[in-house]
Amino acid sequence: MTTTGTPGPSPDDLAARPRAAAAVLLGTVVAANVVVVWMLFVRGGFAANALILVGRFTGLYAAVVMALQLLLVARLPWLDRRVGTDRLTSWHRWTGFALLWLLLAHAVFTTLGLAQDSELDPVSELVHLATTVEGVLRAVVALLLVLVVGAVSARAARRRLAYETWHFVHLYTYVAVVLAFAHQVAVGTSLTASPFARGYWWTLWGVALGAVLLGRVLLPLYRNLRHGLRVEAVVPESDDVVSVYVTGARLDELPARAGQFFLWRFLTRDRWWQANPYSLSAAPDGRRLRLTVKAAGAGSAGLRHLRPGTRVFAEGPYGAFTSLHRTKPDVLLVAGGVGVTPVRALLEEAVGHVVVVYRVRAHSDAVLLDELQRLAHARGAVLHVLTGPRAGEDHRGPLLGPANLAALVPDVRQRDVFVCGPPGMTTAVLASLRELGVPRDQVHFERFSFAS
Ligand SMILES: Cc1cc2nc3c(=O)[nH]c(=O)nc-3n(C[C@H](O)[C@H](O)[C@H](O)COP(=O)(O)OP(=O)(O)OC[C@H]3O[C@@H](n4cnc5c(N)ncnc54)[C@H](O)[C@@H]3O)c2cc1C
Repeated sequence: MTTTGTPGPSPDDLAARPRAAAAVLLGTVVAANVVVVWMLFVRGGFAANALILVGRFTGLYAAVVMALQLLLVARLPWLDRRVGTDRLTSWHRWTGFALLWLLLAHAVFTTLGLAQDSELDPVSELVHLATTVEGVLRAVVALLLVLVVGAVSARAARRRLAYETWHFVHLYTYVAVVLAFAHQVAVGTSLTASPFARGYWWTLWGVALGAVLLGRVLLPLYRNLRHGLRVEAVVPESDDVVSVYVTGARLDELPARAGQFFLWRFLTRDRWWQANPYSLSAAPDGRRLRLTVKAAGAGSAGLRHLRPGTRVFAEGPYGAFTSLHRTKPDVLLVAGGVGVTPVRALLEEAVGHVVVVYRVRAHSDAVLLDELQRLAHARGAVLHVLTGPRAGEDHRGPLLGPANLAALVPDVRQRDVFVCGPPGMTTAVLASLRELGVPRDQVHFERFSFAS
């Protein structure tokens, strides 16, 4: 395939440090909301008892965290390209747990506070509130939904549940959001006390829900209607790896970069409901997209049987594993197993001197090796293929340990490093790079798993 993708780091990319810029913007937005909500809290006065005040405080901040939660998973292209879907999802996960505790605290302290004033016991007070005050029952249902979502998102539960089951349960969060918003409008006196408070509140929720609608619904619909993607060919690469070529109209206008991924949904009768993330395994050339998939479960194994002409619904492009984040003229690309897919695409468009380290168990597992060799040759890049069992070592230590990496790439500290492989390998390489003193902003990685 010819390369027409965006080349290496542009002077603008280098100047802007895109991830830092996005983090600063996001941090500023969060800080501004914290200040405004504090002002709303103070303006609400301190006449109530201390328990009610704590309930009001945690309720206000729970609402802000809930809006932030939506923004983090809205998949807005500007943010996603700079921060990365994996990081955003991870922040979403941790703020999700903060939200859960804030909501619980809001419910418990408010109920205890009101019970103290009314001299009812807390359970009777809650029942009384839910059955007599408009909006409270909605809040109770919203809290129960968030508790269920929190429980299925705990690590132990995630491991046991099929991805689709977890995802389906997670969608109930949107019901919780609507119920919580209706609750705030009905009983949130701090939020409706003044035109400023009302304006702020509607803006906050308008932006959060608008971002989700735009990033998760409208943009994917628009892109798929515009490009009309279809499977062009399915090419086996080995017994358990297959490449799928996808074509469509005006693909040169699709803003995808090497290193990014899409959520692919192949619209056959038995798999239209399943969307899986796969990276582009070739730099987009304006005519077709390619993904290369290793059989991990039934879904990925079944791609081998796709027929040319099958319609495709793809959400994306997503991810920050791209040359947008280059900071140095030269680069080291490290791939493990099927993690070679985005690395292969990055090699195609990389500028500067490139070293590729490809870690596999045996040569026969080295997917796309021919292509890597050809590309490396054409670009004057150095390619090292390291074989051996998972814990393989030589006289210098682990194959991707600091001593071996330093021996293979003596100037590693002067390079950008892109790492993609199984979670264990990626963690080990990141540790080696830390030990070798490679600055953090030169290290970029994709784990092939979202928040865990
Ligand atoms: C950003 C990213 C890029 C990826 N790129 C590639 C690639 O180029 N080539 C490749 O072979 N693999 C890639 N993967 C891994 C690939 O997505 C999974 O192997 C695949 O989804 C497994 O689906 P399954 O139905 O066959 O297996 P299952 O048995 O259903 O799942 C196997 C594993 O994949 C996870 N998984 C399943 N569905 C999803 C989903 N929709 N989203 C996130 N995780 C899911 C499960 O949690 C489980 O850990 C990538 C993953 C991510 C997150």
